[in-house]
Formats: sequence, structure tokens, C-alpha cells
Amino acid sequence: FHGNSPPHVAMLVTPGMGHLIPIAELAKRLATRHGVTSTLITFASTASSTQRAFLASLPAAVASLSLPPVDLSDLPRGAAIETLMSEECVRSIPALTTLLLDLKRSTNLVAFVADLFGADSFDAAAAAGVRRKYLFFPTNLHVLTLILHLPELDVTVPGEFRHLPDPVRLPGCVAIPGPDILMPLQDKTNPCYKWMVHHGAKYREADAILVNSFDAVEPGPAKILRQPSPDRPVVYPVGPLIQADRDGGAAGCPCIEWLDRQPAKSVIFVSFGSGGSLPTEQMRELALGLEISGQRFLWVVRSPSDEGAVNDNYYDAESKKDPFAYLPEGFVERTKDVGLVVPSWAPQIKVLSHPATGGFLTHCGWNSVLESLVYGVPMVAWPLFAEQRQNAVMLSEGVGAAIRVSESKGREKIAAVVREVMAGEGRGAAVRAKVAELQKAASEGLKEGGAAATALAEVVEKWTGGGGGGGN
Ligand code: UDP
Repeated sequence: FHGNSPPHVAMLVTPGMGHLIPIAELAKRLATRHGVTSTLITFASTASSTQRAFLASLPAAVASLSLPPVDLSDLPRGAAIETLMSEECVRSIPALTTLLLDLKRSTNLVAFVADLFGADSFDAAAAAGVRRKYLFFPTNLHVLTLILHLPELDVTVPGEFRHLPDPVRLPGCVAIPGPDILMPLQDKTNPCYKWMVHHGAKYREADAILVNSFDAVEPGPAKILRQPSPDRPVVYPVGPLIQADRDGGAAGCPCIEWLDRQPAKSVIFVSFGSGGSLPTEQMRELALGLEISGQRFLWVVRSPSDEGAVNDNYYDAESKKDPFAYLPEGFVERTKDVGLVVPSWAPQIKVLSHPATGGFLTHCGWNSVLESLVYGVPMVAWPLFAEQRQNAVMLSEGVGAAIRVSESKGREKIAAVVREVMAGEGRGAAVRAKVAELQKAASEGLKEGGAAATALAEVVEKWTGGGGGGGN
């Protein structure tokens, strides 16, 4: 039926810019390098203006469709975002099945790809008769290793992770202290814990897992996961997939104009991802810490998260209240010659790639980490939620691409870490050198013949039947 149509892939993406951006980048790469078109399927809850605008800006080879809303009103208020996404996925299986049947009729559909909280959608793919089921994992190999081990850890680890006397050691991985383990695993009575264990088992149904990471940043688990194993699907590190710098996307943006006037590598960029915000007290200490550090800074501020959740803005990056009202008295005025504070959102790629940027104080969301590495920017790690604390451990204790702010978050400590990463001779210098090395490795991997490019080519080969229709 579709002899002349290009191979087409359906990709289900759970809400959040952090999920949307890398999978869209994967889709773009499949189109430009391999002639594979795709449809990104989003949930009805992916409704923020930022996410909609992003989908609308994608090239014609990357279509998008939204699933109809499902009723989630029976879930308790304050249910974890991981629970909401997992529930929405399961409840969308009938609609997704119909949608996949339609795509089978209208395109040369060769594979279905789900992302990290969407593995239950494999049931829809099976019902629709889509044979090849892949998982796209937008975060790293450390987190993947943990999730794949969850069904067994659920049995062997007594009590809560945060009470464990020893760090959690998994094959090839940096040892992760219990309190730094993935946030949705930190309360075993919360339904999101069970969901994660469930996903760990469900991932095994994938034919293969594509991961947005690269060997040099986590050589230990890369070495292990690159070897085929009967216990789990084949793993392909295909990263770093980061959002391409869109020319003109930030033209006239005040923060870029401001950066243009700063000396080379003099500015630390401070941002907590698409949805992160700090409690009022930490926001204050951060402001004073930046001021004491004497370093130039560009800070994306959001109103504080004191209602309890640090990810209140998850589904929509817009700050709900005026964030400037929460800064210390006189702060903006006192720092106006060295600092710029912008509300809610900045063109992060433009900022990280700017010659004036010399450091990044980041919440360690994996996209932010990859972007920092691609542009060679050393990091100060200030993790908030999701897998960010374990990313901070792996970056600071493992590969050495970041220095972590101590748990107390006092202004003097913050100032010291900022200074060290920007200009320190000891640990700071080592971090800057390591990041330069990782920048090179990342770029080599993506070139024709590099590790990431080769991995993706192998996947496409499986999809397009080069291996005799294999894929299962
Ligand atoms: N981002 C941005 N401007 C902002 C905040 C975030 O462009 O002010 C982008 C950032 O470049 C990254 C993504 O949004 O691509 C955030 O993803 P990440 O995984 O770092 O964090 P999450 O938002 O999932 O917590």
C-alpha cells in the first residue's frame, strides 16, 4: 500500500518540555539523516502555550496529534506528576489504539516509540498490530539502570531508600546515596513508587531502548548496557540530542543583548528548568550568594514554591505571580551593573552558547545538563526533583563536570561554589577541563561514523527491514 511513502514512526510523548524537546530532536534527526517521517502523539494534558507553540514550530516531516482528554478526576489532589502521566497513558490506550490504526492506514508505519512514563502504550501498539515497539529514554543511563533494576530492588531493599546506611550500587554506576535516589522512589507508600516499579518491568517489552546520553559522560553504565543481555532490551545511546539553536528565535531578547555587553566567560547562568522554583528562603540565599560571589550573573526567576511542591509549574512554565516581589530588598538595584534577572523563561540554548557565559547553576534536569556539555559550560549543581539529585551525584562525584551546592544552601557556601566553578584554580579548573573534554566527545559521537550516529543508523536499519524484517 505504501510502497512510495517514506518510513513513518509514531512517538508517544508524555507532558513537559523536558520530554518534548529531545524526542522532537530525535524525530528531526530521523527525517534529515534517514528520511524517516514521524508523528508525535501528545496527551491532552500537554496543553501549555509553550508546548503547543513548540509543536507548531516543528518541520513538516514531524507531524503532531493530540489524544482526547481522559478523566483523571478520581486521582487525589497532589498526586505525583509521574502518577498523573502514567494514569493518563493507561487511560488513553483505547484512543491511542484507534489513532495507531489510522496511522497504519495513512502512512508507512514501521515502528512505535514510547517515552519513559508511556510504556503501557505498548498495549495499544500490540492491539493495533504495530510490531516494533521501542522506548525512548530522555534521561541518562544511570537512571535507566536504576529503573530496570527496580523490580528486583523492590524485593531486596528494605524500607525507604533515604534510610539506607550505604549508597545504592548498581552495575557500572556511580554509587548513589539513598536520599539522592530518584524522587518518585522516595516514598514507597506513594502510588508513584509502584508505578516506577511497574515501568521497570514494562520496559522489558521494548525491542530496544534509545537513550539520550553518550558514553563519555557515564562510561561505567555505557560499557555494561552496550553489551547485549538476556535480561533486558538492547540499549542504544543516541545522545546528546538537544534542541537545535533556532536562528532569530531570540532576536531582540534583552538577555542576549545584555550578554553581548559582558566579557568572555564572565557570566554564570542560573536557571531551574522549565518548571522548577525554589522556596522563598532559598531564593533569598541564592540572591545574596550571587551578590557575595562578585560574579556576573543572568538569573531566570520564578515565584517561589512554598505550597510544598517544587514542581508546581511543571505543566506550564509561566510563573503564576510576580517573581521579583520575592527577591531581597534592594537586590536588583545593588547588582544592576553585574546581574540581570529575567522572569520565567530565557532562550537557554542561546545563553549557553553565548561567549560571555562561563558557568551554569542548574537544577540538573538532563536536557539542561546535555546542553551545558554540548556548549562546554561547567556546572554548579542545585538539584530539585525527579532524577536531578542523582544526576548531581553522577556529575559531581562521577565524571566531574559539576560542583554541587551543599545541602544547607547558605549564601556563603553558594558564593564559594559559584566562584570555584567560574574561576577556581583547584576543583573548578578540573571541572572546566573535564567539561571541555566532554564537549569534544559529544560532538565526535554525533558526526557521521560517531557512536551516537552509528547507533541511530542501526535502529533505522531494523525499522526499515534491512535485517530481513527483524525488529522483534
Ligand atoms: N528551557 C529554556 N528556557 C528556560 C528554561 C528551560 O529554554 O528558561 C529549556 C532548556 O533549554 C531545556 C528544557 O527547557 O531544553 C528543560 O529541560 P530539563 O530536562 O533541563 O528540565 P525540566 O524542565 O524537565 O525540569
